[in-house]
Amino acid sequence: MASTRRPLIAGNWKMNGLRADGLALAKGVADGVKQAKWSDREVLICPPATLVLAVAEAARGSGALVGGQDCHAKPSGAHTGEVSAEMLRDAGASHVIVGHSERRTDCGETDAIVRAKAEAAWRAGLLPIVCIGETLAEREAGKTLSVLESQLKGSVPAGATAAKLVVAYEPVWAIGTGKTPTTPEVAAAHAHIRKVLGGLTAEAAAVRLLYGGSVNSRNAAELLAAGDVDGALVGGASLKADDFLTIAKAA
Ligand code: PEP
Repeated sequence: MASTRRPLIAGNWKMNGLRADGLALAKGVADGVKQAKWSDREVLICPPATLVLAVAEAARGSGALVGGQDCHAKPSGAHTGEVSAEMLRDAGASHVIVGHSERRTDCGETDAIVRAKAEAAWRAGLLPIVCIGETLAEREAGKTLSVLESQLKGSVPAGATAAKLVVAYEPVWAIGTGKTPTTPEVAAAHAHIRKVLGGLTAEAAAVRLLYGGSVNSRNAAELLAAGDVDGALVGGASLKADDFLTIAKAA
């Protein structure tokens, strides 16, 4: 791994966490990050929108970062139920996940929508984590690399730099299933992503690429050691502070 690519371990809580449990979890992670005093990796918590403000306050001074799970492309206006990148920033977020496969599937988000959301993140001063990944059918049809390429080209806005972009490779079939690609498969996908990024930004070699999909405290070390893997996007295992911190330690 190039020394400029500081590993990022990001926890996506999805639609989980009421105030009491969410704050206890955030405090557990923040305390662990504070104790570890990591300067060689970053740890990010992405709670539901209702908890971003409280989690950011709980994490303040610990070194743990806070992000949103999605944002609207517009800064404000008549978009009932939506949250803008500016609102997340105002609540204390520094990052935002865009294009998660659950949003691509549940909400019909296209690459163009994801790209607009990444641009919104830039406008608000947030670092977008752009998610891409193939479905099982696409994988079985041998289309993994071409799907990644077209999602990447469609979802990453022009003007990307290493400081303004993180990409998460999340095979849809690996999310929440306990199944993962082999380490060589992860490395091959990441190498391809980096190659395609080379056509999109002059700083492709320094862009951080996260692997996501059933990362847990037992498989993290192996997955994080795969070539071109600069961290992890963690769903289920980010809901237990000890497990999430074990993954962060493995980075
Ligand atoms: C995710 O939702 O981004 C994810 C990777 O989930 P899990 O770790 O539970 O597979």
